[in-house]
Amino acid sequence: MRCPLCPVLGVSALAATSIALLAAAPQQAKEWGVHDKDRPQPAMVTPGGHGKAPSDAVVLFDGKSLDKWTGNGGTAAWEVKDGYFQVKAGSGNIRTKDGFGSCQIHVEWMVPESCKCEGQHGCNSGLFFMDRYELQILGSNPNKTYVDGMAGAMYGQYPPLVNACNPNGQWNTYDVIFHAPKFKADGTLEKAGTMTVFLNGVLVQDHSEIWGATAHAAKAKYSAHEPKLPIGLQDHGDALCFRNIWLRPLAD
Ligand code: MG
Repeated sequence: MRCPLCPVLGVSALAATSIALLAAAPQQAKEWGVHDKDRPQPAMVTPGGHGKAPSDAVVLFDGKSLDKWTGNGGTAAWEVKDGYFQVKAGSGNIRTKDGFGSCQIHVEWMVPESCKCEGQHGCNSGLFFMDRYELQILGSNPNKTYVDGMAGAMYGQYPPLVNACNPNGQWNTYDVIFHAPKFKADGTLEKAGTMTVFLNGVLVQDHSEIWGATAHAAKAKYSAHEPKLPIGLQDHGDALCFRNIWLRPLAD
């Protein structure tokens, strides 16, 4: 199979064929009638909750180790404590060893009471999709800053619909549906990525279209990349805590 973008994206033609077949599958499915009894049953999934992941999730942090993560120099140096882990300021961002595209992800995060929030300083981190699209993590109750940089913001792009952040010292939950962008063979954008985000169960991003890779004080721009890339967490110099991280890959 001819694959003009393969050298750019670093995937083999064989991998590209597999991706194309998977992507084509939904369009080849037969059209089902209303209440068609032959329509296949969905897969059974045991739901999670109370700190447990759904049965089909990829668990990225189980409360014990950062084995699924890497950091600068190869090892994720952030500190694992009693069922959670904490940013080790100055050690750098951490990212998953595996790459992911479109996904549902659950992340719990907390700003310790000892942190003093002053705008973007003192209680800042971030959840990065594909190592470049940031959903901001910031103590925001209370903490006044520019609105496209507060908790629930797609950094530099969209403010949250509402401020549903818990006060420092309390855990927050992110539940996100992320759809990866798609690129044409010539590397230009075919379809923008999107995020739908619930912060503590409250909708804060409603299928918001990503403008491009997160930038500071600059307009975000896309550049073509691989279909699967790591999930990242930001070391912004502040000792935020994380627990219960799981992900379910989604078909596009
Ligand atoms: Mg941040």
